[in-house]
Amino acid sequence: MFDVNQIRKDFPILDSQVYGKPLVYLDNSATTQKPLCVVEKLTDGYLHHNANVHRGVHFLSQDATDLHEGSRRRMQTFINAASSDEIIFTRGTTESINLVASSFGETFLQDGDEVIVSAMEHHSNIVPWQLFQQRRKIVLKVIPFNDLGELDMDVYAQLFTERTKLVSVTHVSNVLGTVNPVKEIIRIAHSHQVPVLVDGAQSTPHLKVDVQDLDADFLVFSGHKVYGPTGVGVLYGKRQWLEQMVPYQGGGEMIQSVSFEKTTFNELPYKFEAGTPDFISTVGLATAIDYVESIGLGEIAQYEQQLLDYATEQFQQIPGMRIFGQAHHKSAVLSFLVDGIHHYDMGLLLDKMGIAVRTGHHCAQPLMQSLGIEGTVRASFSFYNTMEEVDKLVAGVKRVCGMFGVK
Ligand code: PLP
Repeated sequence: MFDVNQIRKDFPILDSQVYGKPLVYLDNSATTQKPLCVVEKLTDGYLHHNANVHRGVHFLSQDATDLHEGSRRRMQTFINAASSDEIIFTRGTTESINLVASSFGETFLQDGDEVIVSAMEHHSNIVPWQLFQQRRKIVLKVIPFNDLGELDMDVYAQLFTERTKLVSVTHVSNVLGTVNPVKEIIRIAHSHQVPVLVDGAQSTPHLKVDVQDLDADFLVFSGHKVYGPTGVGVLYGKRQWLEQMVPYQGGGEMIQSVSFEKTTFNELPYKFEAGTPDFISTVGLATAIDYVESIGLGEIAQYEQQLLDYATEQFQQIPGMRIFGQAHHKSAVLSFLVDGIHHYDMGLLLDKMGIAVRTGHHCAQPLMQSLGIEGTVRASFSFYNTMEEVDKLVAGVKRVCGMFGVK
């Protein structure tokens, strides 16, 4: 049974006071809080299992290697990858996309080739492609979205040409909350023999993501957004692509043999993991995934939907309120502005009431340009948030409106 009060006991930080008021943490899209079991796992790793992985014949190195490789298999089951060789550990979503832009790009993209992204991408799924444009003159094509914040699938289907080589889209928008129809996006791309990268940074914490069911070619996500440690994330890639792609970085681990004349590369997944991995955090991430799955992603999605529906209903009654993102299939993110109140003022004043929200462009400036605004206030929910916290948010927003004379 889902019991939010019981769950909150696993997150000591939620008992914090800020400015003498109980913390209401609604910045979960930026990063999630960590349950005790994850923090304890990290401590246990440093205290009892710390030795460099893969290289040692000694007991402790074998032990650390077993734990680290066990975490890789845990990531495989989390997203239902066909093989743990298709799981590459990275520093997070950003590094995973940079890896694909660089290595897939170097291997498969020529001057004049096209990559399709959407107008609701995070900067980390725009800038790596622009950086790659310094190496090859690739063209970025953009799927627009409608007034509800849903991708225009008709336009999408028209964007394909013979030069289209990759589609790279977010599963869930970090600003609008839109859950994009990635299965359909992939189906259409595959009908043109074009692979698809899915940015799962905002979906993996909230929905069950199954790469084989989606038939995704790449899926990327960040540990710190799925209740795991910072500094670790995942790139899933189908073997057929990863095997052909050139390595991203050079160094230890990723080689089979090195001489000054010639280096041969290691097999998957190590070919893409140069240097010592963050083997303590990978184990912490596996613990986070165990924790999330012990609650159940179905239960999480259902409860967060209730939080979102309740908050949306309340917000719609506030005069001057504009909610950005009204997609039919939406994750628990509320981006908003109240007429006459700058998002930054709203965020600062809510903070003084103990309510942590994010303000600004949320690393999605092109999306803001599409909306014709500079930024929003964003409240993003997790399964540890409560209806009472939604009430506090609503009361806080109304209070700020009162201060600004918006009635
Ligand atoms: N993609 C999306 C949709 C995001 O929301 C974020 C972070 O907010 C990122 C990518 C980047 O994630 P990270 O900073 O963990 O690499």
